[in-house]
Amino acid sequence: MSAPPRFVQVAVPVPVDGLFTYRAPDAGPIGPGFRVKVPFGPRRLVGLVVAEPTDAPPEGVEAKTVRPVAEVLDDAPVVGAAELRLAGWLADYYLAPPGEAYALLLPPRMTKLEDDAVAPLKGLTEDLVRRLPDAQDTGRLGPKMLEALAWLEDAGEATLSELRAATGLGRDVVKRLEARGLVAIEQQDVARDPFTGTPVKRDEAPPLMPEQAAVVARVSTALGAYHGFLLHGVTGSGKTEVYLGVIDAALAAGKGALVLVPEIALTPQLAARFRARLGERVAVQHSGLAPEARLEQWMRIRSGELPVVVGARSALFAPVKDLGVIVVDEEHEASFKQDTSPRYNARDLALVRGHLQGVPVVLGSATPSCESWANAKAGKLELLSLPGRVMARAMPEVDVVDLRTAPVADAERLFSLPLVEAVRAAVDGGNQAILFLNRRGFASFLLCQSCGSTLDCHACSVTYTWHRRRGRLVCHLCDQVRSRPATCPSCGADALSEMGFGTEQVEARLTELLPGVRVARMDRDTTRGRALERLLGRFRRREIDVLIGTQMVAKGHDFPNVTVVGVLLAELGLGFPDIRASERTFQLLTQIAGRAGRADLPGRVLVQTYTPEHYAIRHAIHHDTLAFLGQELPLREARGFPPATFLALFRLTGKDPVKTARAAEELARALREAAAPHVASVRVFPAQPAPIERINHRYRFQVLVRGAKRGVLHHVLSETRPRWSRGLEGGIHVALDVDPLTFL
Ligand code: ADP
Ligand code: ZN
Repeated sequence: MSAPPRFVQVAVPVPVDGLFTYRAPDAGPIGPGFRVKVPFGPRRLVGLVVAEPTDAPPEGVEAKTVRPVAEVLDDAPVVGAAELRLAGWLADYYLAPPGEAYALLLPPRMTKLEDDAVAPLKGLTEDLVRRLPDAQDTGRLGPKMLEALAWLEDAGEATLSELRAATGLGRDVVKRLEARGLVAIEQQDVARDPFTGTPVKRDEAPPLMPEQAAVVARVSTALGAYHGFLLHGVTGSGKTEVYLGVIDAALAAGKGALVLVPEIALTPQLAARFRARLGERVAVQHSGLAPEARLEQWMRIRSGELPVVVGARSALFAPVKDLGVIVVDEEHEASFKQDTSPRYNARDLALVRGHLQGVPVVLGSATPSCESWANAKAGKLELLSLPGRVMARAMPEVDVVDLRTAPVADAERLFSLPLVEAVRAAVDGGNQAILFLNRRGFASFLLCQSCGSTLDCHACSVTYTWHRRRGRLVCHLCDQVRSRPATCPSCGADALSEMGFGTEQVEARLTELLPGVRVARMDRDTTRGRALERLLGRFRRREIDVLIGTQMVAKGHDFPNVTVVGVLLAELGLGFPDIRASERTFQLLTQIAGRAGRADLPGRVLVQTYTPEHYAIRHAIHHDTLAFLGQELPLREARGFPPATFLALFRLTGKDPVKTARAAEELARALREAAAPHVASVRVFPAQPAPIERINHRYRFQVLVRGAKRGVLHHVLSETRPRWSRGLEGGIHVALDVDPLTFL
């Protein structure tokens, strides 16, 4: 008697809705968590079996049309049941293609076809370009060579691909610079891990402050079951020590831990602190890891050899053995939300994983998000507080500099006299300063003073940003670069002037105002990967007096000699068309102010603003998160925004503006029909052009849907799923963002 047929549901890593049914071999082990090689259209792909085999295909699938699995790749499941459930939850809640959700569970190497895996590994060594500081003969260089050189002067050294990503310039330009003796090109092993390649001195935990000890004790008693905590601790209150204490407790109980941090590449110091304490037991996951290294780490995490995983959002899916606790640091950060499909929020999913696996979850922040605060008020999260800094250090004193009345130091009104004087005093006293402005580039845009037109990117509905050092106009949306025209392209007048300012101009002004002060700039233009690490190292060794940067400088750094922090223009983010503009501004200002006075030296923060009375600025100045949230939450509720409601945003993009607009209207109509039985709780807003109407030649429209409850919103979205999940006619692309964090 022959065995009954077996059918399996397979998640195939493609952006297509649904699971796919295949026929399993009649004999041999197969089940949830096994990888299989399957035919998919004309291709073969590696998919993941997500459920137990059944003896009949699901309803609506004819047995004779089902294709067989080409090969079962494992003889035991490689992915555990808990992780499978997490990915299934993600696909369902975010209405994301299941294949993309399940793909998060495996390192890329494990979904490669064998033929690929044995192919020679490309990209393992890569050329490193280094500026030779002694070579100064830069006469008679072409504009491209000058641009590459200017960029390298900031970066120090970089891989060719980093240079290309930042400037669009390639090997030919670098070769010419090498021929002139200005740069050196070296072979470099990029697999060398910036986080684990350098040895870290072991250190011991300091005795915890009583407040820290109380928090660690409370969380430790919760090990073994799900419990959500919101740890609100002011900047410098010692939250990281608390996390380490909680992890210790988990390890002592024979369990592992997951620590999610925003943008780990920006905070090598945090990773170093974990390694210094936990040594070889911690896996640090970051985007710079080569695929082989990621696979190796994944294996060692899975075997229990590395019980602690520290990483950015994707680390949430790490196969930690006997998970004991999950920590999400800086839980308010938008970078926990993935902005490409599947658009999940790792902070929210951390709570789901905690639920599914019965482990406590700690969300920590100095500036909790409105969502988490509302959850704490509703009793869904238990609030824990660290109200003061460690060692009774003072919170930095924050002074407002009202730019409407303050004496200014430069014609562009970038610097007030008090700010310049404070920076001078810090540097004269042998200390350091950080200056913050959330806009890169030199000038925001070029304006013709004769005809009034601006220099706009031809692919996007925004102006180019002028980067003086590079001598280039750059589109910050599509990264397109062009040279600066001598005269206005619209009217021909010689009247192009630079409007607005960015970090590059702040750097130039400060160098004029305080000659001799060593200034460096840190933003997306100058600083990635290794260059960032080196820049932070130079600042830490006090080879730099003043660090100027965008929000990158606000992120969790701990520099003991920084006594002055200056904010150039506090309200810069308030004009954004975003329901969270005030919240973001409050969080950024509070975080940046927290960079001052973190060691034994008192710190001072100067906030320049034209609107000191705005509540986001006022409460940040007083480090008063409770007052801010107390004002923001009722406003959100009155306006019908999250966390009082739940949102989903459809983004439609297409080459033809009329067709794309029409498609958006049709989608809105379909959504409205589906929402009709729930008029009281679901609202579909009219289709609209997105705030940025065009990016990269594609027109953008959006449809916003709001629900009073998650459940009914989800129901309406699911009902219409067949209408949008396969894309629309005419090459119009539709993306759904559940719980969106950006509306641009
Ligand atoms: P947060 O993450 O809350 O901003 P950190 O954990 O970075 O704060 O702590 C701020 C500083 O205080 C760090 O330099 C840290 O090493 C130090 N610190 C934390 N806890 C203690 C403690 N119990 N005793 C002494 N120093 C501590
Ligand atoms: Zn553009």
